[in-house]
Amino acid sequence: MVYNELRKDYLLNRWVVIATERSRRPTDFVKQKTEQAQGSVCPLCVGNEHMTPPAVMLYLKQNGEIKTGKDHNGQRPQNWLIRVIPNLYPAFSPPKDPTDQEQIMKSENLGNAIGHHEVLIESPNHDEHPADAEMPQLTLLINAYIDRLRDLSSKPYVQYVSIFRNYGREAGASLLHAHSQITATPTVPRIPAEEMAASKNFYDRHQKCVFCDIIETETKSPRLVLDNRHFVVFAPYASVHPLEFWILPKKHAANLLNLNKAETEAFAETLKTSLKALKRLVNDPPYNYGFHLSINAEARDYYHWHLEVYPRLSIWAGFEKNTGMYINTVKPEASAAELRKAVQV
Ligand SMILES: [Zn+2]
Ligand SMILES: [Zn+2]
Ligand SMILES: [Zn+2]
Repeated sequence: MVYNELRKDYLLNRWVVIATERSRRPTDFVKQKTEQAQGSVCPLCVGNEHMTPPAVMLYLKQNGEIKTGKDHNGQRPQNWLIRVIPNLYPAFSPPKDPTDQEQIMKSENLGNAIGHHEVLIESPNHDEHPADAEMPQLTLLINAYIDRLRDLSSKPYVQYVSIFRNYGREAGASLLHAHSQITATPTVPRIPAEEMAASKNFYDRHQKCVFCDIIETETKSPRLVLDNRHFVVFAPYASVHPLEFWILPKKHAANLLNLNKAETEAFAETLKTSLKALKRLVNDPPYNYGFHLSINAEARDYYHWHLEVYPRLSIWAGFEKNTGMYINTVKPEASAAELRKAVQV
């Protein structure tokens, strides 16, 4: 009797059954594209700035230079390259008056959802998604992530900044224009909090960063997808999604705030290469990606930022929702092998 493997995440108390008995190959997930109905006006396109709230941050192209600015006095310049606006239906809102930020929690299990919820428009071009973006524009996107992270993390009521991207309707994108979202929250959400606690625990026992260890292991493992000067990409040991991959910086840092120019460009390049491989492999699937990082100075030594990419190829059903345990029908080693080939095309 051969059993399915039950694997545990590096840090989280999260288990996944690698159900290879169904022996699906990653490419079994190739989907026929259903044509998206076009026709309605895109509120994120150039010329429609008045359809959205005023931008809190703009990268503007002026006389061949890129300047940072924002919308004010009813002005909505159209010469932007990146545009960051408050979400029209925010999950978290800024404090209305200063005393609100001092008392966010009303009791142990009730608080005000104080924070920020932003939409980052990645390009004036409707379809300039990272897998196909021009490198200078994609580098601007990473710089914009860093600028928003710097601004939001400096606010006293912000404990965590989540930067994420939904691509495709099945992954939750209600607008098709290339965009990311940023939420700044008054507490650290469960998954990053669990990762931080576990990596602190590891650090206390071994005096080293668990992610630096993971990098060393995975660069020599069959789960490796890509290894360049500044970054490593691999399918995590206990992937919960077929073709899931993570991007980790080789330089130890708890967040992206100190990325230098070369590293920022290398990150943009690595992101594009890996997403392009995914797109090529399974016909442009929907996906979500999100950063895990810490803005807590205390976490400097034990936490290590990374980006997790979750392709949306299988639908989670009752078991996953009911238990928090997952079933993945593709071995991470098989996912990595396919991605590795696709990266090299
Ligand atoms: Zn658009
Ligand atoms: Zn590290
Ligand atoms: Zn993580």
